[in-house]
Amino acid sequence: MNLGLENKVAVVTGGTSGIGLETARILLAEGARVAICGRDPGRLEKAVASLGHSERLLAASCDVTRAEDVEAFAASVLLRFGAADILITNAGQGRVSTFADTDDAAWRAELDLKFYSQILPIRAFKPLLDQSPTGAIVAVNSLLAYQPEPHMVATSAARAGVQNLLKSLATEFAPRIRVNSIVLGLVVSGQWERRFEARADKAITREAWFAGVARDKGIPLARLGTSDEPARAIVFLASPAASYITGASLEVSGGVSRFA
Ligand code: NDP
Repeated sequence: MNLGLENKVAVVTGGTSGIGLETARILLAEGARVAICGRDPGRLEKAVASLGHSERLLAASCDVTRAEDVEAFAASVLLRFGAADILITNAGQGRVSTFADTDDAAWRAELDLKFYSQILPIRAFKPLLDQSPTGAIVAVNSLLAYQPEPHMVATSAARAGVQNLLKSLATEFAPRIRVNSIVLGLVVSGQWERRFEARADKAITREAWFAGVARDKGIPLARLGTSDEPARAIVFLASPAASYITGASLEVSGGVSRFA
């Protein structure tokens, strides 16, 4: 199947690690021009080295919760590529906290990250997406939106709100821009590697630790996902091959969901 991505311009927020990095890699392999962003300069530099295709790659420093950063990122994409056909809102991370240990500052920070990591890039890139014949947004979200976990109370609540927002946007932006999301289960990437590094029992191996997580979570496919697995789903939804899909969410979770 031809995804129709040759020469398209795709923007991936948080494209310097994990799922975003693998998404950028597939987009480049499909012939797209790609812009990635992240905050950490070291991670940006490593991503550029690992992705190659420098003639079709733009890497920018940008915190997606800061409007001026995001506007500057959009301006640099316009300057370099003259267009944007695809926006993948992927940047972010989860917050482990219960209601008892989430103070107001933590609530505000989490709601800010989850909502503004969508709102600001979508607002900044919408004028470019509007001009594309195949404009598409894919948001990276979590199963927590439908299946909240008490130990991630703020993240779960914010994720649910984001799914609701995306559904509104799919209607408001139609027929020009398609808006879809993927809802993730557990995928080994930067944030899970950091949790493994911070494990209480340092004697436990990486393999045993991740197998234990999969067992504890009751994942039917008996493992966590790898970054390229959601990346392939993201690229499909973003591509012209998914031309009649909007307002949808695709679960990439190894079968762990309990909702319909
Ligand atoms: P990684 O930590 O590997 O990658 C996160 C990426 O986002 C990095 O490039 C990071 O770069 C960037 N980022 C984080 N915060 C910001 C910010 N404020 N502005 C710009 N860039 C930012 O994580 P994953 O690949 O696992 O996560 C991708 C997305 O999927 C995230 O939104 C995450 O919350 C979500 N998700 C992941 C799950 C999983 O199991 N892996 C489960 C559910 C959801 P830098 O830090 O340098 O800015």
